[in-house]
Amino acid sequence: MADAIQLTVGDDGIAIATMDLPGRPMNVVNETLTRALADIADRVAADAAIKGLVLTSAKADFCAGGDIDNMSKWTKPEEPFEGSMALKAVLRKLETCGKPVVAAINGHALGGGLEMSLACHARIVLDDPRLKLGQPEVKLGLLPGGGGTVRLPRLVGMQQALQICCEGNDIAPKAALAMGLVTELAANREELLAKARAWIAANPKARQPWDQPKFRMPGGDSRSPAVVQMLAIGPSIAAAKSYGNYPAVTHIMSSIFEGGLLDFDAACAVESRYFAACVLSPESKNIIHTLWYQLNAIKKGASRPQGIAKGQVKKLGVLGAGMMGGGIAYVSAKAGIDVVLLDTTQQAAEKGKAYSQGLLDKAVKKGRSTPEKRDALLAKITAGTDFALLEGCDLVIEAVFEDRAVKAEVTKRAEALLAPTAVFASNTSTLPISGLAKASVRPAHFIGLHFFSPVDKMPLVEIIVGKQTSDETLARAFDYVMQIGKTPIVVNDSRGFYTSRVFGTYVSEGLAMLEEGVHPRSIEAAGLQAGMPMPPLALQDEVSLSLSLAVMEQTKKDLAAEGITFPERPGSKVVRQLCEIGRVGKKAGKGFYDWPAEKGGEKRLWPELTTMFPVAAAQPAQRELIDRLMFVQANEAARCLQEGVLRSSADGNIGSIFGWGFAPFHGGALQFVNAIGAKAFVARARELAAKFGPRFEPAAIVVEMAAEGGRFD
Ligand code: NAD
Repeated sequence: MADAIQLTVGDDGIAIATMDLPGRPMNVVNETLTRALADIADRVAADAAIKGLVLTSAKADFCAGGDIDNMSKWTKPEEPFEGSMALKAVLRKLETCGKPVVAAINGHALGGGLEMSLACHARIVLDDPRLKLGQPEVKLGLLPGGGGTVRLPRLVGMQQALQICCEGNDIAPKAALAMGLVTELAANREELLAKARAWIAANPKARQPWDQPKFRMPGGDSRSPAVVQMLAIGPSIAAAKSYGNYPAVTHIMSSIFEGGLLDFDAACAVESRYFAACVLSPESKNIIHTLWYQLNAIKKGASRPQGIAKGQVKKLGVLGAGMMGGGIAYVSAKAGIDVVLLDTTQQAAEKGKAYSQGLLDKAVKKGRSTPEKRDALLAKITAGTDFALLEGCDLVIEAVFEDRAVKAEVTKRAEALLAPTAVFASNTSTLPISGLAKASVRPAHFIGLHFFSPVDKMPLVEIIVGKQTSDETLARAFDYVMQIGKTPIVVNDSRGFYTSRVFGTYVSEGLAMLEEGVHPRSIEAAGLQAGMPMPPLALQDEVSLSLSLAVMEQTKKDLAAEGITFPERPGSKVVRQLCEIGRVGKKAGKGFYDWPAEKGGEKRLWPELTTMFPVAAAQPAQRELIDRLMFVQANEAARCLQEGVLRSSADGNIGSIFGWGFAPFHGGALQFVNAIGAKAFVARARELAAKFGPRFEPAAIVVEMAAEGGRFD
């Protein structure tokens, strides 16, 4: 097998260690790499002919981070503790080898990759704005266990270290230089190595700052008054955002704080203990299950039909240049696709295009784009009214009014101009796809592409397969979603599809609570404590009560036509009552909340809400409210899987987190059941059903799992 790190020693006595982990697309910190690094550190220390070491990579990245597969195998706390201590021993060996060591960072250095570079005496980084540095562990419920919480505060100060580790955001090279995280920038690869060599020549006796006798932590250690003040408020700021649902954040803060009272080695041991606590936490296991394994599987095409050649959209037609159409045009043009954006008037079409202009102008202003790039992207969008412009489109997406007749008409007009192989997609949010496909003369090429608003920000597209949609059409739709950099989930056709159906139960449950006399403040607090990004009443205001009412009425009519009685949703009376007095939500400035007219103003719960819905004398425990809000969603998601609306649990979990922000620390709506255990879920769901109604009666699929000891994969 090839070496994980190749070592060459030049005539100048400078050794170049090039990481290139065999059989992997990226370098990750695993046992192979760590062992190779330890050997190199030994050799550099022992070989008098070697004057210094440059650590770099042969891959596109420098080092992408820890080996998640390996971490996922750990079940006992000793394993992560010892793993983390072993890595740190190697990194310590490197920085105390007695010769200058420079990291020549040619690509992303994330997590364990950045920690490795922190154990070098200098970091020289390629000045590429796409290059990412950072400690993103917190996003997987972990903390940097390779010395990140020990070296960072000693290098850039406690406040910056807390920010880097608790937020986990990417840091661009220029910003890293400004905060003192890196030593120098280099314009290209040659300069990178040249500067690394020059640094070694200039610093033959390099030692880490924390190994100098009179070392002081920049900005002060945990005892200094300024730091004490910051550390006193830090946990409350974090708790206000995370409601204590993310133990990794608390562990990171503790590790940095305690490490700031201790010497280097003791701080390292403390960090490893917190690392072990994070690795074994259910939160981290849930997040890794879904946002690592299931997301990667989806991106690799787990829900795409196999054996169909990869498609690429070159020309896209968008019908309806409103809020959604304008957004779809933008994200597609950004991916290099030529877009025809049509509406009923030239003015409306231009308005849709202006949406892109607005976003791009902002990006130019903030230095994230250039006028040339903006103009090139805008040139890709042709706004018009003439359907003949659709000729040659590989895909057409309609985003016209949510009205069957209007949708049927544009479907017919567009199809008349399309090549037989072209795909026609609807962005409907509520109308079943198989019904809309009745207007199509080629229903095998008809599919649902449900985008979320605002399109440029929301990462998910829900692909809806109609009764007659072909595998080929599904594969092409899937490829398009990947082409524009979004994450696709694939679901079968049904009322509300998957995302709207399950998300709706969350909002309805909040409304039901209000109707029962639960204090509105307790309802909203429960939503946030549950880990949802927005509480139910505020969310209903955002969506607009009148829109929900219209959808309810339409569904009622549709079902009546099929001879089915519409099962009234819990809380629907509340929506009617508010609509009757014109409190239709945010767009009207009033709903459950009074919304401020001025930008940046704060919304306030409408004081009369408790007059309209009197607060009951006995209030339930918050725990019960939280359980209701989460169980109702998880149970509905399980029903979707049981009914075949969902095709996989990965789609269910990712769809819930990316689609409506289902509390990520639970790993998604179905992983929620796994984490609790099917048996416990069934028991609690039955308690809730006895108290609040059959919507909590556990889905048969979970009851079965409880009996047989299974789980969602
Ligand atoms: P919108 O009212 O902002 O835009 C609709 C546009 O379609 C208007 O500009 C209108 O002039 C145009 N239009 C109407 N008839 C047309 C025709 N015959 N030919 C060409 N253009 C025509 O609506 P929107 O919010 O962008 O929603 C569009 C679709 O997307 C709807 O089906 C909606 O259900 C769905 N959707 C909306 C959201 C959302 O959050 N707004 C989310 C997902 C899906």
